[in-house]
Amino acid sequence: MLELLDINTYYGNIQALKGVSIRVEAGEIITLIGANGAGKTTTLMSISGIAPPRSGQILFEGRPIHDMEPDQIVALGISQVPEGRRIFPFLSVMENLDMGAFLRRDRDGIKADLEHIFEMFPILAQRRHQQGGTLSGGEQQMLAISRALMARPRLLLLDEPSLGLAPIVVRRIFDIIERINRESGTTIFLVEQNANLALKIANRGYVMENGRITMEDKAAGLLVNEDVKKAYLGI
Ligand code: ATP
Repeated sequence: MLELLDINTYYGNIQALKGVSIRVEAGEIITLIGANGAGKTTTLMSISGIAPPRSGQILFEGRPIHDMEPDQIVALGISQVPEGRRIFPFLSVMENLDMGAFLRRDRDGIKADLEHIFEMFPILAQRRHQQGGTLSGGEQQMLAISRALMARPRLLLLDEPSLGLAPIVVRRIFDIIERINRESGTTIFLVEQNANLALKIANRGYVMENGRITMEDKAAGLLVNEDVKKAYLGI
């Protein structure tokens, strides 16, 4: 579904991604793990067109997207949930969700997706008229994911959904991520520092260090890999 082929991404003179190649199959959950500053967020930004690569190729369903604008990439079916759950704090829950559907014209489809989201996250239905900024951290993460789902993506990019949330809330969010993948077949690209949790729900994983991919395997394989255990699982 998605292929990153030898991409190099820079911020001015700083090279954040060095020859990164990643392959994502339709229907799977893949995770990219790595330490702070390894380049995980930049990888997602490169896919979504916010930090386009200077060289290399990104193909979505065989079509080059590395020269496209972010809104064109969303229109193709790729949505990103940014790190730090950047919702619109002064807009209501409903207005935040409407923003996620701004490229769509199919009113019936939008209504059906909204109902599905409210069934998945009943708390958002209860708080639909509340300002986004007044929600708890976990609720804001649910809203950020829901807003991305309102674009009806086939590929969902999730940046550190566990960041700053209590363990019990993180577990709920991860259950929902698995459910989204299972029920609607949405392909998930999950960036996480919480490697243990991420590898438990993923099919395959990549490890990133200093802008390079250093390991790639089935998630079950990475979970028992001695280097991964020592560096990322604290075992
Ligand atoms: P984190 O978990 O902290 O978000 P990360 O693995 O997602 O880390 P990136 O945020 O992609 O890492 O950062 C990769 C490198 O690029 C780091 O060295 C970082 O300092 C640098 N970087 C990130 N954003 C910018 C920017 N806007 N301008 C300059 N350098 C940046």
